[in-house]
Amino acid sequence: VSRKWKVGRSQLNLGDGVVIGEGNLSIMAGPCSIESEEQVALTLQHLKDNEVRIMRGGVFKPRSSPYAFRGMGVEGLKLWHKQAKAAGIKIITEVMQVSQIAEMYDYVDVFQVGARNTQNFNLLDELGRVDKPVMIKRGISGTIEELLYSAEYVFSAGNEKLILCERGIRTYEKASRNTMDINAIPILKEKSHLPVVADPSHGIGIREFVEPVALATLMAGADGIIYETHQQPEKAASDGQQTLDFAESTALIQKLKKTYTFL
Ligand code: PEP
Ligand code: MN
Repeated sequence: VSRKWKVGRSQLNLGDGVVIGEGNLSIMAGPCSIESEEQVALTLQHLKDNEVRIMRGGVFKPRSSPYAFRGMGVEGLKLWHKQAKAAGIKIITEVMQVSQIAEMYDYVDVFQVGARNTQNFNLLDELGRVDKPVMIKRGISGTIEELLYSAEYVFSAGNEKLILCERGIRTYEKASRNTMDINAIPILKEKSHLPVVADPSHGIGIREFVEPVALATLMAGADGIIYETHQQPEKAASDGQQTLDFAESTALIQKLKKTYTFL
């Protein structure tokens, strides 16, 4: 994935005019967890209203507590896909283990590897044999080099459709959920030809501060922003504390687009 291997920057074409990387601002938004048909419909309408082409959401959720909501599984993915396809919106969602790849395959546009699975090397090997794009998040305590090696697993196994994602790292700082490593963005772009996306929701973990962090990562060179939004964040099944409502999400999208035109 090194720039020594490839001159120029990689772009990823998801079809229907959705291209990630160099020259495109990619916005991926949606709830932390897929919860219901109604929630999916409301989110898709919100994204359509704002010309956002990619919806995020988890159906397999890695939760710290086994008693927390762990997602709707493939059934949730199917009901989501049915509506998203009709709306012309692409799906990015987390795959947690090898056996899920096949059952998810038909309903996914981009497989997300979550921070807890960045070094699940068997999962990375298998995703290397898939012909769909993969976004790899930085590990919770992962270094930049480790993220690049994780991407290298997928790339070297044959799948070059990759996106890197900075989502904040665990540090001694307790004032925010994670510490968004803005530094990682220019460094990743210097070291790798792959598109780099930033996740300010998990990066800071505090709803009021998602916007400034999102704008900062864009200024630092991110090719896209992935963030959490929900029709009623205080009722979200997971990560409500860092989730924007639709009005806040609309305001963020407008600022991202305006900022991007200056870059
Ligand atoms: C998520 O995107 O909801 C998620 C679980 O992210 P991360 O893997 O970065 O914690
Ligand atoms: Mn989340």
